[in-house]
Amino acid sequence: MKVINDLSTKAILLIGFTILIIFVIFLGVLSWKQSDKLWEQTELLYNQPLQIRRSIGALEANVLSASIEFRNFLIAKNGQKETESRSNIELNFSNIEKELNRLGQFYSGISDEIEKTRKSYVQWKTSLIQTIDFVSNGKINKKDVIEKIELNGDVIKKQNELQKWIHTIDIKAFTKAEEIYTDSNKKNKNLNIKLFFIVLAIIFLSVIVLWQLLTSIRKPLKKLTRAVNIFRQGEKGVICEIDSTNEFGQLAMAFNEMASTLETQNNINEKASKIAGIMLRESEARNFCIEVLKALIEHTSSQIGAIYLLNKENSRYEHFESIGLSQNHITSFPANKSDGELGLAITMGTIQHITDIHADSLFVFTSVCGDIKPREIITIPLMVAGKNIGVISLASLHCYSKQSIQLIDTITDTLAARTNGVLAYRKIKDLAEVLNEQNQELEAQKVELSAQTIELRELNAELEMQKRQLDDASRLKSTFLSNMSHELRTPLNSVIALSGVLDRRLKGKISDEEYSYFEVIERNGKHLLSLINDILDLSRIESGREEINITNFNPLLLISDIITNLYTQAQEKKIDLVNLVDNNLPEIQSDPDKCMHIMQNIIANAVKFTDSGSVQVLSKLAGDKLHLIVKDTGIGIAADQIQHIFDEFRQVDGSASRKYGGTGLGLAIAKKYAELLGGSIKVESSPGVGSTFTLIIPVKLDEYEKMEEVLTRNLPISVELKQNIEFQNKEKNILLVDDSEPALIQMTDFLTTHGYKVQHARNGFEALAQITSQTPDAIILDLMMPEMDGFEVLQRIRSVKSGQGLPVLILTAKHLTKQELSSLKGNNIHQLIQKGDINRVQLLSAVDMMLKAGHKIEICREHKRVINPYKGKLKVLIIEDNPDNMKTLTALLKETSTIISATDGLSGIDKARKNKPHVILMDLALPGMDGFETLTELRNDENLKNTPVIAVTASAMKGDREKILNFGFDAYISKPVEMSELFQILDYFHKTDN
Ligand code: ADP
Repeated sequence: MKVINDLSTKAILLIGFTILIIFVIFLGVLSWKQSDKLWEQTELLYNQPLQIRRSIGALEANVLSASIEFRNFLIAKNGQKETESRSNIELNFSNIEKELNRLGQFYSGISDEIEKTRKSYVQWKTSLIQTIDFVSNGKINKKDVIEKIELNGDVIKKQNELQKWIHTIDIKAFTKAEEIYTDSNKKNKNLNIKLFFIVLAIIFLSVIVLWQLLTSIRKPLKKLTRAVNIFRQGEKGVICEIDSTNEFGQLAMAFNEMASTLETQNNINEKASKIAGIMLRESEARNFCIEVLKALIEHTSSQIGAIYLLNKENSRYEHFESIGLSQNHITSFPANKSDGELGLAITMGTIQHITDIHADSLFVFTSVCGDIKPREIITIPLMVAGKNIGVISLASLHCYSKQSIQLIDTITDTLAARTNGVLAYRKIKDLAEVLNEQNQELEAQKVELSAQTIELRELNAELEMQKRQLDDASRLKSTFLSNMSHELRTPLNSVIALSGVLDRRLKGKISDEEYSYFEVIERNGKHLLSLINDILDLSRIESGREEINITNFNPLLLISDIITNLYTQAQEKKIDLVNLVDNNLPEIQSDPDKCMHIMQNIIANAVKFTDSGSVQVLSKLAGDKLHLIVKDTGIGIAADQIQHIFDEFRQVDGSASRKYGGTGLGLAIAKKYAELLGGSIKVESSPGVGSTFTLIIPVKLDEYEKMEEVLTRNLPISVELKQNIEFQNKEKNILLVDDSEPALIQMTDFLTTHGYKVQHARNGFEALAQITSQTPDAIILDLMMPEMDGFEVLQRIRSVKSGQGLPVLILTAKHLTKQELSSLKGNNIHQLIQKGDINRVQLLSAVDMMLKAGHKIEICREHKRVINPYKGKLKVLIIEDNPDNMKTLTALLKETSTIISATDGLSGIDKARKNKPHVILMDLALPGMDGFETLTELRNDENLKNTPVIAVTASAMKGDREKILNFGFDAYISKPVEMSELFQILDYFHKTDN
């Protein structure tokens, strides 16, 4: 039975079907045998009696046929018929013999009767054939024979005998058939009964086998169904007992395992939800921890539970709550602890189940019988967003069940999240308390503040008023400064202008002492004017009205101009003023006027505060910054004073300033200008040794508003004009338009002295009237005039036909804005001269050039020479035999150039070879070797062949100029030498750089 139970369902079904198939085959074989037997019986029935009966029938028929044919023979009328009958009789005999032979094969039970029949036949046949033969032979006639037959002759008797035996066989055969039938019937019945029992037995067996097999499937299924139903109703401890190894046994085992697992899981879930309930119920940190520890201890069968939390500084884990832990072991440990059961859990961030307890473990259970070491410890790290906030440790004196560990696994995340929540809640509560306290404090402060606000508001209103007053005052100050300086400048201009006029007119006419007062008046006037100009500049910068005009310019030229201006002063003090600025310095993009102002100030200071030694100006390119350095060997500045030198009206030392003069505004303005240009000024200095001032400015100023050079800057050269220099524009009519009488006097004095004719116009209307009545050759126009200012006058002059092409020189004391400059440019202005300290030479050159506008300097282009831009000064060799001419040229050039003089061609060539001048000025009518020969000699010299040579000649004959230039001179100047022309030519060569 056990074997069947263990069979698999597949095996059971296979066995069932196999048995049934065997039964069916058995039944089939049995039926086949049965039918076989029946067939044998039937064959027997067919073969014996039936064949015998058929043979008997054939025998009887042939006997009767032979008998009839015999009679036919007897009654035959001819031989043919006899023969016919005879052959028929023989045929019948042969059939009879055949049948007799056949009969012998069938049935052994009639062999005697067949033998007797055969004998009877032989007798009958013999008798018959004998009779026929006798008849045929005539031994007997046919009548006798017929009679014999009629008289029951021998043949008939024997025939009857034969028929009797045939009949006997027939009866025997019939009887035999009857027997066989009866036998078959009996056999059939027997077989049917057998078959019935066999089928019955097979059905019985099949039922038993199938029953057995069905039972082996149904029984475990029923058990399983029942177990499932019970389990479904929620009963615990359900077990399905199937003692088998087949599918049902395995199914039952799986079911039992599943039921047990589900039950365990249910248990864990129940416990977990109980603990979760506890966690949710408590929100006060200490209660929460105690309740959680209690629940954990209860549901995991622990004896000790402790919770440690990370402190605010994240440096230590502090003991927070515990149950069952010995007092001696309530401790804290560092956050970076990585050993022991707690350290491991913190480092790994996973639950640690320790079964091998270390001797120095924190966990000791204090019982009545002393301290007991636990058997196992579980440490739960409280991880929130990957960070550890604390750790819970449970210890048990027994081993932890799998369920307990699973329970801990299940609740860990919730536990950590909830602990974090409770701690956050605690923090918020603490914060809320603090906030509450602060709120109360703030409330009190608010009350205080609102009182202060009211006070402040009042104060603000007062300040606002003061600010408005200050703004008004500042505006008033600017207006006052601007008005005042203008008001001061006008009389000062007059003082300077008139003292200058008197200076010249009264020379030699009054005593020397009195005459020297003019110098004092002029010097002080100029000092006052520069002070006023400085104050004006400063006030413009401070009010933010100072404009920057950016353009491209070469700093080297700018420095050269400044040095040229200061050269006389330096020479007077016997100090070297050296220009060491790099010749290859590229053009920079900045405001040239402001740069000039700054450098002018720094270099002038250096010259001023240096009594011996030198002043050097150097340059350096550092990235996108240009450094212009001024080094002097002067008095220097004390370290504690350096910080103050850029303050307004600040001079280092009162006594020094008295000695050297100055206003104390120069550096203040320079510094402000430097800042406007995006740069700075640096100072290094030591008293008694010297100072180094460095202007650092960007090579390219960002807010690039390129301003085209609208007006040429003032001529930088301030050489003493010698009385013997004559201007060619004598007799030219110049209209002076100015409302200031002293200015008119000063200008008239300048111009008439040099042969110009001067007309006066004191306002715009007068000027316009004069232009229409008598058109002058040029106009000098003041901009600041009452009623109609210079701008309007200019516009009106340009609107009348006669005024359209008139050269106009602007004279102004006004600081011009960009718009004003471009408006002047639009009106074709020749030059602009700042009023006040007017330089006579400057004015005269400007007027001269204005009148000669369009005059071209004669420079032979094909002989264009390249001279190196000079370092320091241009070296000029003057070859001139006339001492007066030599003096004039020297006077004109000495400040800008190093003069080498030679009085004849030979000494000229000699000096040229020695000194290698940058340019040679040569008179053509020289004693001995003339200018042409000297030039040929110079051109033959390898070192001098490229030096520009300018012909200076009194020859004014037509065709001379062409002759001279064709000969190979680089340029041509006719005597008397015109200063502006000379400078233009020199400037051309100086600027011609590769
Ligand atoms: P001042 O008109 O007095 O020159 P500045 O503003 O130009 O006014 O200069 C301020 C002061 O800085 C000067 O009075 C002088 O004491 C000092 N100072 C300027 N440059 C030099 C220098 N190169 N050497 C010595 N002291 C200088």
